[in-house]
Amino acid sequence: MAAQHVPPSLPSPSPSAHIHVFWHDGMLGHDTGKGVFDTGTDPGFLDVLEKHPENPDRVRNMLSILKRGPIAPFISWQTGRHALTSELLSFHSREYVNELVEADKTGGKTICSGTFLNPGSWDAALLAAGTTLSAMKYILDGFGNIAYSLVRPPGHHAQPTQADGYCFLNNAGLAVLLALGSGCKKIVVIDIDVHYGNGTAEGFYHSDKVLTISLHMNHGSWGASHPQSGTVDELGKEEGFGYNLNVPLPNGTGDGGYKYAMTALVIPAVQKFKPDMIVLVVGQDSSAFDPNGRQCLTMEGYREIGRIVRGLADEHSNERLLIVQEGGYHVTYSAYCLHAMLEGVLNLPFPLLSDPIAYYPEDEAFATKVIESIKRFQERSVPFIKGV
Ligand SMILES: [Zn+2]
Repeated sequence: MAAQHVPPSLPSPSPSAHIHVFWHDGMLGHDTGKGVFDTGTDPGFLDVLEKHPENPDRVRNMLSILKRGPIAPFISWQTGRHALTSELLSFHSREYVNELVEADKTGGKTICSGTFLNPGSWDAALLAAGTTLSAMKYILDGFGNIAYSLVRPPGHHAQPTQADGYCFLNNAGLAVLLALGSGCKKIVVIDIDVHYGNGTAEGFYHSDKVLTISLHMNHGSWGASHPQSGTVDELGKEEGFGYNLNVPLPNGTGDGGYKYAMTALVIPAVQKFKPDMIVLVVGQDSSAFDPNGRQCLTMEGYREIGRIVRGLADEHSNERLLIVQEGGYHVTYSAYCLHAMLEGVLNLPFPLLSDPIAYYPEDEAFATKVIESIKRFQERSVPFIKGV
């Protein structure tokens, strides 16, 4: 079966139809090791250990599909940079940053479950943070409307004082704070990684200037590094009450269910909030084949999410959209899903790549019921959605 179909009449890119991708090779230097999945352990009875899921290969394929896939004419490339330690203090505490600096100096350590700071890791984390800041600054300075920060290690689990879930520094959160400090008044963060964006939520939990929306697997708390549950009633506190919207979705939600969640929950919330900047936090671990999730999105689902978010950017943020890479651990399919999502963001009239492996039969009835119950809950409980 042909995995790639390039239509004969590929639209020629115009300057406004470009995605500016920010990347730095140094991020490949974060070596997370081998073991049983993400444990870093060798039980002694397996001949073949696997690479940690958050390994450089997954991002190498994301890089190469954007360079050599059919979307390549629509991509322009920018080189990322290291963040300064001082820049990290807008989101993270000094004590926490010092803890990571010391861990790096002493040759690294396991910061929390599955999260290994090895030689080269801190350099990569600084590059992920700095590259995302550069991508946001590029938009703020008017050089382009749509930027994609292709980074690792990921960031959305990193809380102000706590690493979690392969994440050390909250790349998207740092970019949001840069935008708020540069004149943006209201920013929405839409997180479709399969895991709850607990770090970003925690960072803005008391703020009514940042609306955090997370669509995720209903995985709950997974230990001391991730005390948040990701349930609908974690709505934010004080001025931030109502400005953290959690959408825990049942396993196997699929393309139709995600489209419904975007249409029924995300679009109306964003329309009421009226942001002047949009940040899309994307993980391809919501795909049907990811070793770290069970949500069953295919390329078409990612394409549709890309289209919807592009529509919101056109309507609200003067077409300005920062996309930040998070998880996504199937080494080939993650790259295909990224390609499809960016096709959607570009609003292309037809797919540039066909799906090489999607075959999942969908049953969206249960997901639809769950989404409708979340909608009723939000309409009862969230002041800005109620119109209060
Ligand atoms: Zn994830």
